[in-house]
Amino acid sequence: MFIGGIEAGGTKFICGVGNDKGDILERVSFPTETPEKTMINVVNFFKHKGIKAIGIGSFGPIDPDPKSPTYGYITSTPKPGWGNYDLVGELKKHFDIPMVFDTDVNGAALGEATWGEGKGLKNCLYLTIGTGIGGGALVEGNLVHGMLHPEMGHILVRRHPNDDFKGCCPYHEDCFEGMASGPSIEKRWGVKAFTLPTNHEAWELEAFYIAQALVNFILTLSPEKIILGGGVMKQQHLFPLIRKEVVKLLNGYVQTKEIYKNIDEYIVYPGLGDNAGLLGALALTLKKL
Ligand code: ADP
Ligand code: ZN
Repeated sequence: MFIGGIEAGGTKFICGVGNDKGDILERVSFPTETPEKTMINVVNFFKHKGIKAIGIGSFGPIDPDPKSPTYGYITSTPKPGWGNYDLVGELKKHFDIPMVFDTDVNGAALGEATWGEGKGLKNCLYLTIGTGIGGGALVEGNLVHGMLHPEMGHILVRRHPNDDFKGCCPYHEDCFEGMASGPSIEKRWGVKAFTLPTNHEAWELEAFYIAQALVNFILTLSPEKIILGGGVMKQQHLFPLIRKEVVKLLNGYVQTKEIYKNIDEYIVYPGLGDNAGLLGALALTLKKL
């Protein structure tokens, strides 16, 4: 059975066709433009592919509640043109097949728990640190939605004593995303993040903020594994800095082998690499159907 997957990102859309074993047979990517232009590309890609369902993991906030009148919408995003956009409705005009709609990060958490680093785990956290920051959580085998869905990028963090950057979240200024997203690094230092040398002070600050967030999620969700993806985490040298800071902040309070013996296997890069989002969209569909 062929299934369509869409990773709807704020910068780019990735569409693919896969099967129930998590093989991707075909994959395309294009920049996120206006909804009209972008959705023409999506529809053209999936036409005549013989897919039986489509899974969508989207940037948000979104409405993932099938009982809600605005189910399938991207809701309050500041991204021009995409606020209150009926993404599933648009797809339904062209494809009369089942669709599953969730956040990109919930999808990635499920994808990693199905085929990637979290394989077989029932409690797994996926965090992306890119243009924005978001988190998806699988808790006792279920993806967390609740009232809306988690918005882990906007938790509040303590400021580093050497950091006077005011923060760049349009809603909260110095929340986690405001202090640690890719754009926040670039605004703080005035250069592209990937050009900063590995010994630059930027990375110590970055690890400081990411570790605080992880400690909060460890203490609230108790994940069995934490997977960190997104553009910023391509900086692999961040991992040891983050792990060290997590241990320091927990300060002996959570005495588990994951943290004290195997932290290198506890806080990790996505096993599915750049396909985490797309495979996540496929995993969402397989879980639902
Ligand atoms: P998106 O969040 O749009 O899905 P990404 O996860 O690739 O896309 O995040 C893009 C952001 O990540 C860029 O704004 C940039 O700041 C940062 N970034 C991308 N690649 C790197 C890299 N190699 N090193 C550090 N930061 C990066
Ligand atoms: Zn915020």
